[in-house]
Amino acid sequence: MAYPPSFVDEVRRSTDPLQIIGEVVELKPRGSRWVGLCPFHSEKTPSFTVNEEGLWHCFGCTAGGDIFRFVMDQEAIGFTEAVRSLAERSGIPVPLEGGRSQQSGQSAVDRNRVMAALVAADGFYREQLHGAEGSRAREFLAERGFEDNVVLHFGLGFAPDEWEAVQQHLLAAGFNEHELEVAGLVKRRETGKGTYDRLRDRVVFPIRDPRGRPVAFSGRIIGEGEPKYLNSPETITFTKSQTLYGLFEARESINSKGFVLLVEGNFDLIACAQYGLQNVVAPLGTAFTEDHARKLSHFTRKAVVEFDGDQAGQAAAERTAGILLGNGFQVNVVRLPPEHDPDSFLRTEGAEGFRAALSQSVTGLDFMIHRAGERADLDTPRGKAEALSSLLAFVVPISNRVERAEWIARLAERLQIEARLVEDAAADVQAKGRRRQNRVRSKAKSSEQQESASSWKAQLDKVTLAESELLRAVLEHPEWREQLEEICPFDAIRDARVRALLDAAATCDADGVPVDTGNLLVRVAQEGASALMSRLRLEEKSPLDWDSARNCALGIYDDSLRRRLREINKDIRDALESGNHELFGQLNKEKITLAKRIGSV
Ligand SMILES: [Zn+2]
Repeated sequence: MAYPPSFVDEVRRSTDPLQIIGEVVELKPRGSRWVGLCPFHSEKTPSFTVNEEGLWHCFGCTAGGDIFRFVMDQEAIGFTEAVRSLAERSGIPVPLEGGRSQQSGQSAVDRNRVMAALVAADGFYREQLHGAEGSRAREFLAERGFEDNVVLHFGLGFAPDEWEAVQQHLLAAGFNEHELEVAGLVKRRETGKGTYDRLRDRVVFPIRDPRGRPVAFSGRIIGEGEPKYLNSPETITFTKSQTLYGLFEARESINSKGFVLLVEGNFDLIACAQYGLQNVVAPLGTAFTEDHARKLSHFTRKAVVEFDGDQAGQAAAERTAGILLGNGFQVNVVRLPPEHDPDSFLRTEGAEGFRAALSQSVTGLDFMIHRAGERADLDTPRGKAEALSSLLAFVVPISNRVERAEWIARLAERLQIEARLVEDAAADVQAKGRRRQNRVRSKAKSSEQQESASSWKAQLDKVTLAESELLRAVLEHPEWREQLEEICPFDAIRDARVRALLDAAATCDADGVPVDTGNLLVRVAQEGASALMSRLRLEEKSPLDWDSARNCALGIYDDSLRRRLREINKDIRDALESGNHELFGQLNKEKITLAKRIGSV
């Protein structure tokens, strides 16, 4: 559902954009702005800029917008969700459908309290590991070869073999049962009365948000047993499909190494760290998702998948590589011997052997071809056809033509089919993909989903300089707006976002409020308006004078008249052909006035 503009405005005003962005990007002040490394593309010198109004723009990849846009892009969520999330953080009651607000009642829990409970639980688990209770867990970790430094670095803990350990500790610290339940730390008994600890007798791995705060926990059984890992349930702080274990700890290393290593289990990840590999993340007991890929793409577009060597691990590696390839990643896959996972492999082969395996990784597509060969009988026509159609899905999106042709040739060779047949099939897949995309696009027109698509980024560059300069003139000098509109009626402007923002400026004047970012954006529903606005605000251009503003308006108007003239000429031809003399006369008159006007402009 869409929230009322007044609510969106309230959320915007009570949010501190620098704090929110600062949790993800290390911002350094520069003049009246802040700069940092862009979280949406990988870079070494900062081109990501935030101003005091909380508008942000990246001069590297042209991403930009207001704080809502930032949260949407960062967390891969829609506008409504972003507004809700920021409202919750600021403690603003969120309106429910039908106008009620989620203020009282059982379900309302202060997010800050939940976060505090998680922090307290994190401390408790760590204390337990290093205290008397934790000796067995410490031995277990030592047996795996994990030294104190990595145990401390990842903040590992221990949940004692008791039903109410963390619960009693946190209740004594002033939290209530309901808060602990919402935090996912305890579970309600089946009788409905009372709760008990979710994690018992397990090594505990805190799962952190981008700011390093614990948002959930993953517990591993000590020794053998099932389930090996037990994770917090989804909560207001934790969405499994969007969270990768170790990402907080790995961020810097991913940046400096230029790629991410994906492993399956938490222990694999810790083992890697023990051997000096820091750029490692692991999905949390769930399959790797599109959301995971999107999240990772903010840091790098290069991934190495290293899953367990057994059948299940290889099947998971295939799915994961497929998702990564589909999201434009350059992928490599390390194939471990069937009896190994990265953890056991490291312990037997050491860092040297591990690096050797890494260097022998195969490209994602080679791996997919290999897998397809294992699955289907490539000696039969049906097997070939199946393998071909599954593999083309990854070859077709490759934009580099040389690389694509190379893969098509390789596919033909592996499958023993004529290259021409593979090319034809690829062309088919491509045509189908285009048709589907067109359908999706026309469907998404009115829906909010389009907001979250990246189309607005591409559109950002299409706005003509004259139109964006005209808008800039009005933003810098709201008092010029009426005069500029007399020169160029704003409906002559082609870019819908520019029009929408100019309309919003007029509404601000009518409402008697200043034409500032907050007032404008709350009056604009146009997609991408905030991105355009932030670019204009953050580009360091010299202020516009009246003459250049006037020239922009004149140019746009002239352009629109000429466009209309071309249309009229075409209509005149049509009228002549169909013998519609009345229409022909009218159009001719219009053409003459139009030509005069163009002359005077
Ligand atoms: Zn960027």
